[in-house]
Amino acid sequence: MTLIPKSHPRVKSLLIREKLVEGFDKGLVAKEGLLAQGRGEAFDYLIGEKTSKAAKSAIKAAAAQILLAKAPVISINGNIAALCPKEMVRLSKNTSAKLEVNLFYVNEKRKRAIIRTLKSNGAKEIFGVNARDSTRLSGTESARRIVDKNGIFAADVVVVPLEDGDRTLALRKAGKTVITFDLNPLSRTSQTANITIVDNVTRAVDLLIEESKKMAEKNKKTLQKIIADFDNKKNLAENIVQIKNNLTRRARIA
Ligand code: ATP
Ligand code: MG
Repeated sequence: MTLIPKSHPRVKSLLIREKLVEGFDKGLVAKEGLLAQGRGEAFDYLIGEKTSKAAKSAIKAAAAQILLAKAPVISINGNIAALCPKEMVRLSKNTSAKLEVNLFYVNEKRKRAIIRTLKSNGAKEIFGVNARDSTRLSGTESARRIVDKNGIFAADVVVVPLEDGDRTLALRKAGKTVITFDLNPLSRTSQTANITIVDNVTRAVDLLIEESKKMAEKNKKTLQKIIADFDNKKNLAENIVQIKNNLTRRARIA
């Protein structure tokens, strides 16, 4: 039997998959969330299962953007609650961003399970909990655009990891600055967000926490310049070139 070290990217990917399956068994993850994971795994494979240079610069821009925000909110869905609840709570504490449970496939029982998970990981205040606080993003009609009036509705910057394209567009139309984590640089979410971190959220979130700690020391002007210098379309193109190069290299080996 060949023993692959635990730090090997392939092994790490399998451990991430296990976390998601456990999250499904605990009632956190929707069936559709398993499919999203599969799509993510395919792209993770293509990007080489590591954080690219382009992703690192998107993480920097994201940290600057969150720190400059007046009312930042991190949107939590089932996959995120299964994969990295502790890290999201930590990010929210470090950056004073609110946490909102916001589900694409709405289900009260699942929502309760996600809230419990966030609380057991240290979350104090969670938005998106009470129906009486909910409202719709302007100009949209679907039930999936329901948000908390004190959370995403009032936010200027929204972090939406592993989000759907329609909802990302709805957030942009509502005037929000959108930051996402999405392994697929071609997804509608990736193409619609202001800042797309093309990396596995489980790898990138720790880097974002570290970066926001470092950036908290910097002045407003420096942060504004980091955002002004960031071009999401260019960054996505760099990620696509990276995939192409990885494929070319593999094709040579095969
Ligand atoms: P879109 O609606 O934006 O066009 P989609 O319909 O292909 O995308 P969704 O299920 O709506 O996909 O969104 C989930 C996204 O999250 C996918 O693009 C998938 O690649 C990505 N994803 C899944 N797991 C992870 C992960 N662990 N880290 C980062 N991204 C992930
Ligand atoms: Mg979608």
